[in-house]
Amino acid sequence: MIRKFITRVSKALGRKKPLSHEPALIAHQQHGIRREHIHSSARRVCETLQEKGYKAFVVGGAVRDLLIGEDPKDYDIATDATPEQVRAAFRRARIIGRRFQIVHVMIGAETLEVTTFRGELAHDTKKDAHGRVLHDNVFGSQAEDAARRDFTVNALYYDPASETIVDYHHGVADLKQKTLRMIGEPRARYREDPVRMLRAVRLAAKLGLVIDPEAAKPIREMAPLLENVPPARLFDEMLKLLTSGHAVKCLTQLREAGLHHGLLPLLDVILEQPLGERFVMLALENTDQRVRDGKPISPGFLFATLLWHEVLAKWERIKQDGERAIPALFIAMDEVLDTQAEKLAITRRIAGDIKDIWAIQPRFEARAGRKPYALLEQPRFKAGLDFLLLRAASGEVPKELADWWERFLFAEGDERATMLLPETGDKKKRRRRRKPASATSAAGE
Ligand code: ATP
Ligand code: MG
Repeated sequence: MIRKFITRVSKALGRKKPLSHEPALIAHQQHGIRREHIHSSARRVCETLQEKGYKAFVVGGAVRDLLIGEDPKDYDIATDATPEQVRAAFRRARIIGRRFQIVHVMIGAETLEVTTFRGELAHDTKKDAHGRVLHDNVFGSQAEDAARRDFTVNALYYDPASETIVDYHHGVADLKQKTLRMIGEPRARYREDPVRMLRAVRLAAKLGLVIDPEAAKPIREMAPLLENVPPARLFDEMLKLLTSGHAVKCLTQLREAGLHHGLLPLLDVILEQPLGERFVMLALENTDQRVRDGKPISPGFLFATLLWHEVLAKWERIKQDGERAIPALFIAMDEVLDTQAEKLAITRRIAGDIKDIWAIQPRFEARAGRKPYALLEQPRFKAGLDFLLLRAASGEVPKELADWWERFLFAEGDERATMLLPETGDKKKRRRRRKPASATSAAGE
């Protein structure tokens, strides 16, 4: 009623048609999601807001995932309450402000993101030179909020009280037909936020959907827009992609969509290096499997694998220029990470993890004397060994070396001593002999 009235008034005033159109209301008999399927803390947040007279829905990825029978990774709540009103409704809640204010509501060990419906983008919205939206702090109606979301399958609102899905853009039907369809005109939506190109590829791979041709076609041509996205945001998105449990598929699709060459140094490294391809693929398959088994994965380990062959190539070059092996490795590590940092803000903590894993690799070569025991005591030994195992599986180092270390790790006290290689006859011996020689020559100078 009210909406019709608004439409009529705005028509009479000669304004463009409001965004709102009647959504489909889909009952649980059709979609099958019962309120018990919703995590109790998300349900609590909706109930609390509704008791105070606000609208509140589970929205986005969680509804989509439940519809295809997947366990949602996290829950987002959308409401018509303002951030201040949301905060006031909960004992433990705080407003987080970035591009758009959201409220983090803590319930038990869970943190839920509550967002106020976003309004239509105003014509004078601040954008960068390429059309990327910089600020959008306008609140709006639920219909406007739906229109601002990226894909139709992401614009579904579930009300736990009535067990109804509110669907403005035929998202339920698209999901059934396995189509990832952009809301609105894809080119315009990519211009507003180029990260949507990466999201399209990731979500299609994760959900087993086909990107609608309308949305797939412009990607190749618009890919360069990703260069203007802040590195921290790209890092978040790449991390999501690589830890989605479908990294191999995502990366294959990125290549097909034309989203790699010259775009992100990381993608070039992953997709265009013949040398490390086997290693990288093994690492990604390994990660995918771990994610699917519900095991934890370490971003540092993952990035260390992706960039390792870059390090190897640089390391070799620097050694050839006359630098000693270990300092050369450290120079190579820094150069590789610096190149990545221009486009991808790898957090300091993760960069530290990456370096630890790389730096420990040469130490696996020493298998005599006290050194192997010292290495076992290293806090990063286990990650380093996993890395070595991958290197061996890809044929970069002898399998025998990795096997030896695995046996050494699990050997009982005395057994370890019998495993040690003799101090003579290997590189160590030669190095030891060389030392006094160079000391003599230094003294003679
Ligand atoms: P997942 O959590 O599985 O990675 P998701 O779709 O839930 O996928 P989130 O980043 O959690 O992704 O975003 C939650 C919701 O916010 C999305 O479902 C979508 O409706 C909206 N959204 C996220 N990013 C964008 C974007 N770049 N443009 C428009 N809407 C977006
Ligand atoms: Mg989500």
